Amino acid sequence: MTARTALVTGASRGIGEAIVRRLAAAGCRVVLLARSEAAILALAEEVGGLAVAADLSDRASIAEAIARIEGAVAGIDILVNNAGIAIGAPIGRTDDATFDRVMQINVSAPYALSRAFLPGMAERGWGRVVNIASLAGLTGQAYTSAYCTSKHALVGMTRALALEVARAGVTVNAVCPGWVETDMAAEAVARIARSTGRSLEAAKGSLEGMSPQGRLVTADEVAALVAMLCSEEAAAIHGQAIPVDGGTVMK
Ligand code: NAD
Repeated sequence: MTARTALVTGASRGIGEAIVRRLAAAGCRVVLLARSEAAILALAEEVGGLAVAADLSDRASIAEAIARIEGAVAGIDILVNNAGIAIGAPIGRTDDATFDRVMQINVSAPYALSRAFLPGMAERGWGRVVNIASLAGLTGQAYTSAYCTSKHALVGMTRALALEVARAGVTVNAVCPGWVETDMAAEAVARIARSTGRSLEAAKGSLEGMSPQGRLVTADEVAALVAMLCSEEAAAIHGQAIPVDGGTVMK
């Protein structure tokens, strides 16, 4: 993937950081996007990439980041919409502001970034978009309706855009992880422990037990699939929403 430039959102930690490392190791020049520059400067330096700060909950900040990226690189060949937030709460305790924030970060930001960079990929005749959705984009899950709504929307966006650019040398896919060993999962474990009175260990065990493999997925296992989807060989994998979940989707 040398000579390809990749933009990865939510690059500061977790799955995003693992994707940055995989794509850089494959030879990409990586543009790292995160809320604060401080959170990504060290990783950007380590992989020889460019750090761009943007708050994806803010449309003006997204527009500024797009302008900055356009001024700094010739074009984005690979867009990985990874940044996302998860809210765990029953619908009665999910107010409009929370719902709107989840939809803005998880759906509207990937839409705006796709609108900014997908046409250039199609013009140049090569591109990859990978949206990090979730198993919650393929199946219903209780007490996380805003998140589940947003991830289903992201899968729908993936399919629609895939058809739009199908003949232009560009692929658009979604990756749908089950529970992944990151801060997001740790926060969910803490929430479950708080609301059920169970120990952290027991709460984590309940997430592990959802998978037939009896474990959480690692961030690098998700990143490995993303890197594969971005490769030349994956040119015919298109418009898919691929679970990386230890088989949870079968249950
Ligand atoms: P994480 O919370 O560890 O990291 C999320 C990243 O998104 C961080 O870099 C954070 O800075 C960034 N981000 C959040 N809000 C932002 C904002 N307003 N502006 C800019 N960046 C922002 O999460 P993770 O576990 O690495 O998750 C990455 C993606 O994978 C998310 O889209 C998440 O929904 C999805 N996912 C995670 C899991 C899991 O169990 N961890 C499972 C399925 C899907």
